[in-house]
Amino acid sequence: MAQLSGKSIYLTGGASGIGRAITEAFVKEGAVVTILDRSAAGLNELKQQYGEQVQCIEGDVTVYEDHVRAVKTAVETYGKLDVFVANAGVFDGFAKFEKVTPEAMSAAYDLLFNINVKGYFNGAKAVTEELKKTAGNMIFTVSGAGFYPDGGGVWYTASKHAQIGLMRQLAFELAPDIRVNAVAPGGTLTALHVIPPLQPFVKMVDNETKEKSIKKRNPLQIAMISEDHVGAYLLLASDQARAITGEVISSDGGLAVRGL
Ligand code: NAD
Repeated sequence: MAQLSGKSIYLTGGASGIGRAITEAFVKEGAVVTILDRSAAGLNELKQQYGEQVQCIEGDVTVYEDHVRAVKTAVETYGKLDVFVANAGVFDGFAKFEKVTPEAMSAAYDLLFNINVKGYFNGAKAVTEELKKTAGNMIFTVSGAGFYPDGGGVWYTASKHAQIGLMRQLAFELAPDIRVNAVAPGGTLTALHVIPPLQPFVKMVDNETKEKSIKKRNPLQIAMISEDHVGAYLLLASDQARAITGEVISSDGGLAVRGL
């Protein structure tokens, strides 16, 4: 039997990159997936590809009501909710603390923390009652930047540490009803968006340069792609992980081995 047969999953940021690869893997393993994303074009592609197996909701993770709308759609369409994946996020482009003006730093904080931290909180809050009914679980996409410096600039790194704190506190408060875990991908070749206030302060790099730099930074020397991470999500979402909560699975080419 498929690993996630009959599971109803709600995921944010599924229209692109890691979220899209997770959606594809979940559908392949028998799940139905409700996706919240702000990219109408990406959502349309998913709908065309997967039809009735997905529900696509255009919206913004910083708006609590958008999560409520997505959860309502998932439950009305598929009868229940088993798993929530908080994944939509934005980046600071490695903006250097000393180079950025206080005004830009302040605008960047509001934008980035709203999406990366409040967006995860909003989703978790909106799904809790439904996940209690199914003894379900949550999975947060964090990052190597949740443990080590130099996976981003100050705001991205701080936001990823905050996501891990949020995950651990929720795992504590929601036990024994709901498991809460995280996956920490390392640098991955996606279109991860650098927020506008920081764009003037960072160097935009082409894909080839990005690939080389990702390879150089992890001991396994892998230029990771989104599909490299889906195994960790499949495990945590499944009943095989029923004894796992409050944990982070690193999928980063071995950053801990390097002791970065
Ligand atoms: P991506 O840009 O390819 O995908 C992010 C998706 O989130 C997009 O579809 C985008 O439209 C959506 N999104 C962004 N802000 C949103 C908002 N406010 N409301 C609704 N949707 C929104 O990037 P990705 O690399 O796949 O990033 C996914 C997650 O993986 C993020 O949390 C990111 O921090 C994390 N991550 C990425 C890397 C990497 O190197 N790419 C490494 C570690 C962790």
